Amino acid sequence: MTEKKITTKVRVYSYNELTEEQKKLVDLAREATSHSYSPYSNFRVGAALELDNGEVFLGANQENAAFAGICGERSALYAAGAKYPGVAVKRVAITSHTRGDFVVEPTAPCGVCRQAFLEFEKNGHAIELILAGKEKIYILDSFKDTMPLSFTEF
Ligand SMILES: [Zn+2]
Repeated sequence: MTEKKITTKVRVYSYNELTEEQKKLVDLAREATSHSYSPYSNFRVGAALELDNGEVFLGANQENAAFAGICGERSALYAAGAKYPGVAVKRVAITSHTRGDFVVEPTAPCGVCRQAFLEFEKNGHAIELILAGKEKIYILDSFKDTMPLSFTEF
């Protein structure tokens, strides 16, 4: 038996340490939390996604009584994919809001979203992932960092 150690690099920033492009996406993701339809969880997730062509898409979680809703980050990803198929995703910012305020700790995407974004990292084009808490912000270089033993064919 051998043991394999898997590590993930996460850089921790404050908002003021971000680039202007990153700040813009975080601001838009925070704004997008107000677009959430989440009467069941009362947990509003907002996402802002930037494509390589400069277009930005917002996403927000959408729930229903059948519990077959969609996460905020995937709603942005699929809207972008529907309008600009084949255009690479440059970066995405994700944040969340509940009980009248933004969540203190950065919110990480669920496993389904991780898989969906990972499959958009085709041809070695990594997607920068910005997880914005109320003050602390985590940045990862790729969705591969969120799924080191991912299910993938590429
Ligand atoms: Zn998700």
